[in-house]
Amino acid sequence: MPSLLDHDLPALRRHIESLGHPAYRAQQLLEWAYRGATSYDAMPNVPKALRTELAGWARVRSLEPITSSESSDHRTTKLLFRLPDGASIEAVRMTGRNSDGGERVTICVSSQAGCAYGCKFCATGQGGYGRNLSQGEIVEQVLHFLPPAPRAGAPPAITNIVFMGMGEPFANYGPVMGAIGALNAPWGLGLGARHLTVSTVGLVPEIRRFAQEPVQAGLAISLHAPSDTLRDQLLPVNRKYPLKLLMAACRQYIARTSRRVTFEYILLPGVNDSMNHAAELATLLRGLLCHVNLIPNNPTPDGPFGRAEPGVMRAFTDALKRAGIPATLRATQGMEIQAACGQLQTGSQRREQPEP
Ligand code: SAH
Ligand code: SF4
Repeated sequence: MPSLLDHDLPALRRHIESLGHPAYRAQQLLEWAYRGATSYDAMPNVPKALRTELAGWARVRSLEPITSSESSDHRTTKLLFRLPDGASIEAVRMTGRNSDGGERVTICVSSQAGCAYGCKFCATGQGGYGRNLSQGEIVEQVLHFLPPAPRAGAPPAITNIVFMGMGEPFANYGPVMGAIGALNAPWGLGLGARHLTVSTVGLVPEIRRFAQEPVQAGLAISLHAPSDTLRDQLLPVNRKYPLKLLMAACRQYIARTSRRVTFEYILLPGVNDSMNHAAELATLLRGLLCHVNLIPNNPTPDGPFGRAEPGVMRAFTDALKRAGIPATLRATQGMEIQAACGQLQTGSQRREQPEP
């Protein structure tokens, strides 16, 4: 059975009208769903007859929360969901402060069950590929983090969404763009495009397509190596889309949107964290409107990589800054509950050959 959340407002209006009900009911239904209603019965201003009819057509919720884990400092919560076909995915909530002191609540969502790209440092990649998620399955992960009863005047329950959970968002392009539309729309969650960020391993055709989208969400690129030789080893996708093509696509995105690209770079000790690597990275990115997010490696069960010394990570960050490249070292959250970057792996995926 499909999910109500797979529909945007125009499509739902058409469906409601085709059932002989007034189109404005569609907006009421979505307003309830995006405020956290879990069933049609929790939508009191929708007539009972329509609620019964809809219950036989589409579910309000499709994801079954199986476990919830919280870090001891309460700043990170991870939810594990089961999908109707038995696949499983994870989503994470992280709380923190903005530079202006305001509260920031970020939800990290999965776009696929598993991932086919096989990056050498990533637990999801090591678990293999399962399947694409639908628009509703992506959006619904966020809604599970809404408070059960929103209070007037309460701080915003969710301020940011990042597509940095399991899977490669641009390998599931249509549903991910649909989810971004719904999270941004007034009839949906109503979050500004600047509060939504998609992270990609570097699928060049989709980066070019993303630059043309009406809703301009932020773009983060999993770079992790400053040369093709090294990137070929760490991220097999680089053999298909080498750095020259990737950088050209990023330049097109910046020219089209005037938005800054974030480059993610995991520091892997003895692999990509020397001063020479920092210099190479600075040369690669010189003149680009960008920011480098340096990420301490979160070691994974099957991965060969350790965690760099804090001093090495600081030195790498400083070297980039001295070379004129804005860079920050990301603080790790949620490591003890395996909710940190690259640690999401539900163990239910089939093993498949990574692309390309
Ligand atoms: N497939 C997309 C989005 C999911 S991965 C992508 O690759 O960008 C989200 C982020 O987690 C990426 O920057 C990824 O490189 C990072 N990540 C993966 N494994 C990690 C690890 N072991 N330690 C730290 N970050 C990791
Ligand atoms: Fe997939 Fe991203 Fe992990 Fe690579 S880093 S295996 S693309 S989820």
